[in-house]
Amino acid sequence: MLELSTPVQYVKGIGPRLAEILAAKGIQTVDDLFHYLPFRYEDRLNPRSVAELRAGEMATVVAEVRNAGLFRTRRMPIFQLTVGQGRNRLKCLWFNAAYLQDRFQAGQMVALYGKVEADRDGQLQIMQPQFEILGDIYEEGGADEAEKKAASSLEIGRIVPIYESTGQGKLTPRWFRRIIRFALENLNPDLPDPIPAAVRAHLSLVSPREALWKVHWPDAGESFVDLQSSRTPGHIRLIFDELFFVELGLEMKRREQKAQTGVAFKLDNGVREAIKKILPFHPTGAQKRALKEIAGDMQTPFPMRRLLQGDVGSGKTIVAFEAAIIAIENGYQVALMAPTEILAQQHYFSARQILEKAGYRIVLLTGSLEQDRKRDVRRHIAQGNAQLVIGTHALIQDRVEFEKLGLVIVDEQHRFGVMQRLKLMKKSDDRGATGVPPVPPDEPDVLVMTATPIPRTLALTLYGDLDVSVLDELPPGRTPVVTRSVPDERAPEVWDFVRKQIAASHQAYVVYPVIEENEERELKAAQQMYRQLRDKIFPDLHVGLLHGRLDADEKERIMREFQRGEIQVLVATTVIEVGVDVANATVMVIEHADRFGLAQLHQLRGRIGRGAAKSYCVLMHGGKVSEEGERRLDAMVRTNDGFQIAELDLELRGPGEFFGTKQAGIPSFRVANLIRDRQLLEAAKREAAFVIAGPSRDISQDEINRALKHMRSRWALSYGLVEVG
Ligand code: ADP
Ligand code: MG
Repeated sequence: MLELSTPVQYVKGIGPRLAEILAAKGIQTVDDLFHYLPFRYEDRLNPRSVAELRAGEMATVVAEVRNAGLFRTRRMPIFQLTVGQGRNRLKCLWFNAAYLQDRFQAGQMVALYGKVEADRDGQLQIMQPQFEILGDIYEEGGADEAEKKAASSLEIGRIVPIYESTGQGKLTPRWFRRIIRFALENLNPDLPDPIPAAVRAHLSLVSPREALWKVHWPDAGESFVDLQSSRTPGHIRLIFDELFFVELGLEMKRREQKAQTGVAFKLDNGVREAIKKILPFHPTGAQKRALKEIAGDMQTPFPMRRLLQGDVGSGKTIVAFEAAIIAIENGYQVALMAPTEILAQQHYFSARQILEKAGYRIVLLTGSLEQDRKRDVRRHIAQGNAQLVIGTHALIQDRVEFEKLGLVIVDEQHRFGVMQRLKLMKKSDDRGATGVPPVPPDEPDVLVMTATPIPRTLALTLYGDLDVSVLDELPPGRTPVVTRSVPDERAPEVWDFVRKQIAASHQAYVVYPVIEENEERELKAAQQMYRQLRDKIFPDLHVGLLHGRLDADEKERIMREFQRGEIQVLVATTVIEVGVDVANATVMVIEHADRFGLAQLHQLRGRIGRGAAKSYCVLMHGGKVSEEGERRLDAMVRTNDGFQIAELDLELRGPGEFFGTKQAGIPSFRVANLIRDRQLLEAAKREAAFVIAGPSRDISQDEINRALKHMRSRWALSYGLVEVG
């Protein structure tokens, strides 16, 4: 009898060697195996007949092998298979497929799946179809007739699950089908349901057992469309299950945070006046709203955990400074952490202009400071002289002792790590010399700023333990950046255009994907192009070079020169994608633009269009652009809207990549897909809140406890990074 927790190694037919291959795919237990869902299904109950096939459709065909053979062309061997149904025939071709030579025999039944096309003579054919030889169940032989018959009944005359093969093709779709079927048949029938009955009822969920059977072995009557789009009751149950326990964990974390004590900052007229004094411009409506939400949190005696989300250029910095003033005016210190040294410097530069003028004491703590200086700065922080401390994440998080830290601002831009950020600075302020037991210090408030335009619903649910404020309005007077996609041949025109902008006393960025040429052949590189631009193309202009391998002083010097307008053309790599703010720069030329990710292009483009002057982004590309590259460039030309770009990026890359979930410790899902399953995610969040709210007529304490217990074991297994109480 198998349990969900049984290691797959002990499932008959697997063993230690295959278990290792499965483990590499993340499949360790029977439960994992059951969550290895078919990625598509074949309708072998009603397969298409050859006579009714149409060019252009994806089709499953079950037919008999007529003849098969390999023929060699000058370029490669091609394997041709002809199958038939009565008098109708269908040709299938595989390129470079000598390995298929002895696979087929006339008279065998095969199931084929692929895109139907018309050849030059108008005959239908399928190129490189996926196939299964039916009845050929045990290639290694040894099975008796009855076994063969039973096995082939799984392969024909029904809806058949198709699994992705793995382990260099050792574990074929057919292998998975057999193993999963066997495991289902031998699963302990007494399978408890960790989801409380009321939640099940709200969503009409089927039982776990039924769900597993139905996603792997759908009934003949199941809607094929629902199967292909993961919308059968079985799929919904499994997806909801996964999302629900993630949300339940997040909801718990949120509860715990609310139970800690934080600083209750006062927001009186004095503080309000102090804020008004520093504002260099009228805040936008969105900035006012965000500040109000932040100030509201800061006034409560609970620690703030808030995400401030706003597209590049939406003006997050000033909102952060306003929050900083609230803390400082209450006698607390503020830490502002940036993801890169350049950005920390950038913030320091703005803070000095805006806050130092108003009399606040600000220090910059970066790795490139001399040892002595660093020690000094640390002392100022420990003694409470420094009111605002700006530095990189690593630096502040690891080694700095504050006298009285009240607010931490994390500028994540579009890099994620929210979950880790939250474990920051849990230092007890233990000055035990007096013998009096130390009073644990209040948790500082945390404000995380991000430029990733996550659709709001996703942000709310994904960051279930954070509150979210959104800056959905750009400061006035911005004209949208004009973006063009231009082939390399037209480079001379592009350089002329850059020259004109500079003649009008603007500045330009030219961005390259790599620093040095030999990193990837055929890509132009920042260093080489810097020399060419400086010596050949703009010999009369000041051209600078900025990339990640320069030492910190050099980086700082270059940035300052660019900021002051001394450098007119800045040749750079993506080091500038994050946060750099030079409003006089109005042109950005990105070479090999098709090689950059969409989110990255959007961030880069966010460096221009920051002032009132019209700005231009030129996306250069060579002759061959991949189809996906083309779509990215199109999107950039079409829209400046970060949300639209994010949606498309999600579509192209999937949420795992997009959110950088791996570094961020955000759970990666086995069956759920955050784009496709948005609505279920919302439902899961709602239901999690319902469960956490406590027992009622509809839900017992027992059920709640069972759900929480299951949640903890799930989190421990899958999302090990994060502790939940
Ligand atoms: P981001 O959200 O990308 O961090 P910043 O805070 O750097 O954006 O702001 C971008 C630019 O817009 C800065 O030059 C800033 O001074 C300016 N800015 C911000 N808010 C306003 C406003 N309300 N009115 C005018 N300019 C603003
Ligand atoms: Mg910023």
